[in-house]
Amino acid sequence: MTFLSPASAGGRRIAYCTHCIMPNTRPRVQFDAAGVCNACRNGEEKAVIDWEARRAEFVELVSQQKSVSGGWDCVVPWSGGKDSSSIAYRLKFTYGLNPLLVTFSPMIPNEVAEKNRELMIQEGFDHLLVRANQKVHRQLARRFFIERGNPKVAWDAGVNSIPMQVAVNYRIPLVFYAEHGESEYGGRVLSEESRKRRDFTEVIEHQIGDDPRNWTGDGVKAADLNPYLYPDLGDLARLSVTAYYFAYFHRWSMLENYQFLKEKIPFQTHPGGRTSGTFTDFDSLDDKMDNLYYYMQFIKFGFGRTVRDACRMIQNDQMTRDEGLDLARRYDGEFPEEFLDDVLEYLRLTRDEFTQVVDKHRNAEVWDRSDGQWVLRHPLC
Ligand SMILES: [Zn+2]
Repeated sequence: MTFLSPASAGGRRIAYCTHCIMPNTRPRVQFDAAGVCNACRNGEEKAVIDWEARRAEFVELVSQQKSVSGGWDCVVPWSGGKDSSSIAYRLKFTYGLNPLLVTFSPMIPNEVAEKNRELMIQEGFDHLLVRANQKVHRQLARRFFIERGNPKVAWDAGVNSIPMQVAVNYRIPLVFYAEHGESEYGGRVLSEESRKRRDFTEVIEHQIGDDPRNWTGDGVKAADLNPYLYPDLGDLARLSVTAYYFAYFHRWSMLENYQFLKEKIPFQTHPGGRTSGTFTDFDSLDDKMDNLYYYMQFIKFGFGRTVRDACRMIQNDQMTRDEGLDLARRYDGEFPEEFLDDVLEYLRLTRDEFTQVVDKHRNAEVWDRSDGQWVLRHPLC
């Protein structure tokens, strides 16, 4: 992931979307003349899309690809969270497909998500868990946290590559990722087709930042990087393996996914009633590293997990802008104390070293130092 440096930001004025509460510091987000972000415009489009026609397109697609020999029909990159589990559930029980659920292991697995994954497997799913060499994974996490302020760069690569590697190796033609983040949450949409089919170049450019083949050094050898390498594009074409976004064919809402799933299984939520940094208790529960990941978004871009969650709900008409603002003022940017000891041990950092890394990544466009405290230059409004 690339992030704005003060120089690249060009001193432009920080503004918040007038419909949701996303700031224009979000990477690649686009605001129109009315000051509305493209995620909100996408939300408006979702209200008028002919979803029955999209569903028919989906039925046509899967009926063409369904295995005649009884093998797996599709791979679902699966964290065990509400989004990927609701997709898996629908694929199996609504559409009659035989999915293989593939998990690239969380960095520091959380007990809640382990219980949720087990509940789903007991419902009748095949599951493959891939855990990368932790010596290497921890080294990469430490490096990318220090250099890029993001401990999950290598994890992002694994979650993109492993399901595709599995699809190639088992000759499974379909892979269903969840939603196209650039359309759904605000970003740069390369083409209309990229809303539907996952574009590898876009993933490298927007999610991972560079090719994992570049990650050798510091004791990491080329052979250590296998879990992070996307399959050869020629192999994907030859075997007709294609990754789609499930959300292109079905109206996407994280709240509705959660509501759907909890009617099917006794899905566990965060035992504290809400997750660190936000007001929700049902999202992104599977990795103890996630609190830090979202906190670093706040450090680098000035918006944290509450703004992220509130925007998603505002864009789907599940919350007003004022309600979102109120929640953001209460919880956004909360320090990730919960699980921080586990995280520091994983990254081999002391608290002092951790603080230095965090401060190094504070975007000067976003942050000011006043009376020994860091304050946002342009508070949410
Ligand atoms: Zn917006």
